[in-house]
Amino acid sequence: MKVLIAGGAGYIGSHCVRQLLAAGHEPVVLDNFAYGHRAAVPRGVKLHDAGLADAAALDRIFKTEPIDLVMHFAAFCYVGESVKAPMKYYLNNVAATYTLLDAMRRHGVKKFVFSSTCATYGVPAKLPLTEDMPQAPINPYGQTKLDVENALKALAHAKEISFAAFRYFNAAGAAEDGSIGEDHDPETHLIPLAIGAAQGIRPALQVFGTDYPTPDQTCLRDYVHVDDLSRAHIAVFDQLAKPGAALFYNLGTGQPTSVLDVIKAVEKVSGLKVPVKYAPRREGDPPALYADATKAQKELGWKPKFMTIEPIVETAWRWHKTRPAGYGDR
Ligand code: UDP
Repeated sequence: MKVLIAGGAGYIGSHCVRQLLAAGHEPVVLDNFAYGHRAAVPRGVKLHDAGLADAAALDRIFKTEPIDLVMHFAAFCYVGESVKAPMKYYLNNVAATYTLLDAMRRHGVKKFVFSSTCATYGVPAKLPLTEDMPQAPINPYGQTKLDVENALKALAHAKEISFAAFRYFNAAGAAEDGSIGEDHDPETHLIPLAIGAAQGIRPALQVFGTDYPTPDQTCLRDYVHVDDLSRAHIAVFDQLAKPGAALFYNLGTGQPTSVLDVIKAVEKVSGLKVPVKYAPRREGDPPALYADATKAQKELGWKPKFMTIEPIVETAWRWHKTRPAGYGDR
């Protein structure tokens, strides 16, 4: 399959590019490098330097490249920022995504894989989360992803598209060979911040909230390895052959892991101490989110290779240890 990867120079997209190559597919990257890294795109992979909202550029790409399927990773993904600057999120995550979908429609490209999120569930009434549970996001980031899910449903109903929306839990880790990894600017995610604090190149890690109704009073999340996420995107290809397919899958390991568990894993794997500061809750954070991913297991044969936090942190540690400044392009 020839696959256009919007956001292919970003964290999850770049790992997916490599998994596609390994599976014998042909990835074509679309990225405007607002957050992506040129060095994350392997040599030999075709690259289009353009934004999602650039309809003329999209027309040029779809006219010249016989694209079979589009994967869309090019979203802003900071919960806290989305609370403070919601329009940025609506313009990129929603409006620009519609521009991409409309360009696909004009050019008859009908298969779409969308990066959605467990943030669409809001504060769940029951855990672990299954795909049929109510979606009521508590931050604009989650809302923008839900808006796109709803638009996709309508497009699939009209047989304009076949899609899979993957609701990621917490993407984590790095390529096992250490070649690529997480490098956000600004970085707001727990694992890179904890590792950076341990290395002494970032400030002490703030633990956001120590009064949650969880076993150790810190938030519970479900950390899932970025290569496992990527593999699900390829495992779904056959299902998208059916016109109007509308598929939703949770992608997580199902292991509830607290902020303190992550800190312990970083300390164990690195042999370093993580300096910590206890801080108030961060706005927009649900107390606990973890997946029941049985549906992806049953329908896609998807089983994460990394089932616990330590081996995930090990891959992240390998990346950050050798590349403390990340790609070094900011
Ligand atoms: N977190 C934290 N300190 C930080 C960053 C994150 O305590 O400096 C917590 C955050 O409150 C959440 C968990 O770590 O409970 C994971 O946050 P992250 O930003 O990595 O991912 P999110 O769950 O927001 O997608």
